[in-house]
Amino acid sequence: MRIYTSEVKPEMDGEVVELAGWVHSIRALGKLIFVILRDREGTIQIVAPKQKVGEELFKKIKSLGQEDVIKVKGKVIANEKAPGGVEILPLEVEILNRAVRPLPLDPAEKVPSELDTRLDNRYLDLRKPKIQAIFKIRHEMLKSVRNTFYNEGFIEVNTPKLVVSCTEVGTELFPISYFDKEAFLGQSPQLYKQMLMATGLDRVFEIGPIFRAEEHNTRRHLNEAISIDIEMAFSDDKDAMDILEKVIINACKDVYENREKELNLLGVKIEVPEKIERITYDEALELIKNKVSIEWGEDLSREAEKALGEVMGGYYFITEWPTEIRPFYTMPKEDEPEKCKAFDLMYKDLELSSGAQRIHQYDLLVENIKKKGLSPEGFKYYLEAFKYGMPPHAGWGLGADRFTMVLTGMQNIRECVLFPRDRQRLTP
Ligand code: ATP
Ligand code: MG
Repeated sequence: MRIYTSEVKPEMDGEVVELAGWVHSIRALGKLIFVILRDREGTIQIVAPKQKVGEELFKKIKSLGQEDVIKVKGKVIANEKAPGGVEILPLEVEILNRAVRPLPLDPAEKVPSELDTRLDNRYLDLRKPKIQAIFKIRHEMLKSVRNTFYNEGFIEVNTPKLVVSCTEVGTELFPISYFDKEAFLGQSPQLYKQMLMATGLDRVFEIGPIFRAEEHNTRRHLNEAISIDIEMAFSDDKDAMDILEKVIINACKDVYENREKELNLLGVKIEVPEKIERITYDEALELIKNKVSIEWGEDLSREAEKALGEVMGGYYFITEWPTEIRPFYTMPKEDEPEKCKAFDLMYKDLELSSGAQRIHQYDLLVENIKKKGLSPEGFKYYLEAFKYGMPPHAGWGLGADRFTMVLTGMQNIRECVLFPRDRQRLTP
C-alpha cells in the first residue's frame, strides 16, 4: 500500500514501503544516484548505488528527470546523515509519466519566478511545498469555520449566483446573457440570506463565490472571491459579532495547533487572540485625528485604514458607523438614527468582514431603499419576504481569501486563491 514520505520513520529500518510522487531533483555521482522524491506531505531521499540495485534498475533511475512521475518500492534505511534520518534503497521503480523539459518554472525553487509566470503555470507552482502550505492552511481555516458553525447550530445553505439586478453596494456587477433576459453574477448572498430569515431556518451559513467587477487591481481585491456568510434570526449586531469573534479565534487556534509545519515553511507566527476589541467609528476617528482627518460621516479612506491599523494592530471591530454610508438594509440605532448597528472586522489595515443588524420592518426598509435613490419595484421579491412575519436578524460576510492572507502572512490576495480572477486574468 502506498504511504506518504512523511510516514517513513527511522524506526521502520528494513521495512519495504511503496511511495509515489514527482522527481524533485536528481543527482548522479558516477555509480551512485540520489533522487529526491516529493509528494503532498514532503520529500524523501532515494539512494541508488549501482552495485546494490543492479545494472537495469540503475539505468532506469539514471534516465529520470525533474518532475517525472514515479512509483517506488524500496527498503527503508535509517541514516542519521540523510534528511529526516531516513532514506530509501529502491527495489522497483515504475515511471508513471514523463515531464517535458525545460519546465516553464522550477518547482524546486532553485530559480525564482515572477507571480505572473507562476499563475500562468499554477499547476507547477502548486507543486512547491511552500505554495501548498498556503492551501493547507486555507483548508484548515475553512474546516474550523464550518466546525464553529455546526457547534453554534448553523445550517449550511446555497443561494443562487445567477440573479437579477439588485444593486446594494457600490461595486459594479457582471452582466451575463440569460436566454432573452439580462442577468448578473451575484455580488453577495445578502438579500437571499435575509429572505431565509423569514423561513424559520433561524441560523444559516453559506460559503460561496461573490462576483465583483472591481475597477482597479489591488493586492486585496479579486473579481471572484469566496465569502463566508451568515445570517441569524432573533439576534442583533452584538450577537453577530460574538459569532464572528468565535469563528476567528477558533480558526487561529486550529491553524496554530494543526498546521505548525506549514506555518514554519512560510515563516509565519500566528497570533491567537483571546478576545477581539470593539471600538466605535467615533473612537476610530479620534485615534487617528493627528495623522488623517476624516469628516464625520465619511467612509474610512485607505490612509485612514493604514493609520488605524498602526494604532490598533491585530484584529479589531469598528462599530456604530454613520447610517449614510452603509447599505439600505442596515438597522439604525434607536436613540441616534444617524448612527447604525453596522460593524467591520479589521486585521490591521485590512477589512476582513462587514456585518450588521438588519432592518426587519417592511415600511422602514421601503423608506430606506427610496432614501438611497433606489426603486422598491426592483426589490419586489425581496420585500415580499418582509410582509408575512420577518423576525429581527443580523449577519455578516467574511472574505475567505482575505482571512487566508492574514493566516499565511501573504501580502497579495492572489497568492491565496488557486486560480485568481483579476482585471487582467481570466486564465488558467
Ligand atoms: P472593500 O471596502 O475592502 O472593497 P467591501 O466593503 O466592498 O470591501 P463587503 O461588501 O463589505 O466588501 O464584503 C464583505 C467582505 O467580503 C469584505 O470585508 C472582504 O473580506 C470580502 N470582499 C469583498 N469584496 C472583495 C473582493 N473584491 N475581493 C476579495 N474579497 C472581497
Ligand atoms: Mg465592507
